[in-house]
Amino acid sequence: MRAVVTGGAGFLGSHLCDRLLAEGWEVLAMDNLITGSEANIAHLGGNPKFRFEKKDVSEPLRVAGEVGYVFHFASPASPPDYLKFPIETLKVGSIATMHALDLAHEKKAKFLLASTSECYGDPDISPQSESYWGRVNPIGPRSVYDEAKRFAEATTMAYHRHLGVDTHIVRIFNTYGPRMRLNDGRALPNFVYQALSGQPLTVYGAGNQTRSFCYVSDLVEGIYHLSQSNEHLPTNIGNPTELTILEFAERIRAEFPNAPKIIFEPLPEDDPKQRRPDISKAGKLLGWEPKVGLEEGLRLTLQYFKEQYAKTIERR
Ligand code: UDP
Repeated sequence: MRAVVTGGAGFLGSHLCDRLLAEGWEVLAMDNLITGSEANIAHLGGNPKFRFEKKDVSEPLRVAGEVGYVFHFASPASPPDYLKFPIETLKVGSIATMHALDLAHEKKAKFLLASTSECYGDPDISPQSESYWGRVNPIGPRSVYDEAKRFAEATTMAYHRHLGVDTHIVRIFNTYGPRMRLNDGRALPNFVYQALSGQPLTVYGAGNQTRSFCYVSDLVEGIYHLSQSNEHLPTNIGNPTELTILEFAERIRAEFPNAPKIIFEPLPEDDPKQRRPDISKAGKLLGWEPKVGLEEGLRLTLQYFKEQYAKTIERR
């Protein structure tokens, strides 16, 4: 089996490449590296089954040879990143999704879209199940990501229904772990970077908005099972353990001996007030549930971030 993974040098894309290679697949990873990094795939350099191509998949996509699976994981995913690259985010969710689907159609390959809990917007129900249509501001600052991913889901379903492409859609909830960028601006890397560099932790708003954090190995496991299933409709994958962002900041703060203080900054526009996946569908369909708790996940992630931080200090 040969897979194309767009966004293969990103946080999730690179872990997916590892997983597919471990299953004995050949992998062609593509990434334009605007938010991904070659460091995430450096360990695969000597692997004859792995190839990397620096490529913007919003440009026309041509791949020689057989392809059995296309995983479309390319996109900025951190709010500060997609606010910095709004046009690229819209293009990779729309035009690039069509390119990736055209490739799957041409090669008679299966296809899996990395979609997102952002499709639910600022939800007025919790937990969010797949049947909920969401509450998205179509013109707010986050819309470049939310609407691009909603368009990507609509496109994926159209290629499935109209052209018969064997498609799958995963709605990914907040995920953390090694290979997140220390400066990607999301809550976890921000808090850890701030704690490591002796700065106060910046909690936005009063910190009573909630998120549910899934460790990356659990997420990739769920995605792999979904990719092998016959399910075409969107499926949530995430960890349902919900906590407020203030609780999350406190939790990270407790990992540091000289406990940095917490300061409060303005809440970004349209920041979802609550987010928690209903994973009963994934449980029934795939027999999957997350296994790594926050304590173990944070330990593994902090270890990685500490090493990364030491490298940035060395380089100065
Ligand atoms: N957040 C925060 N401080 C930060 C970064 C983020 O309080 O330094 C909040 C953010 O406003 C949101 C939550 O943490 O409510 C999760 O943000 P993140 O950017 O990680 O991802 P999101 O779930 O919003 O896509």
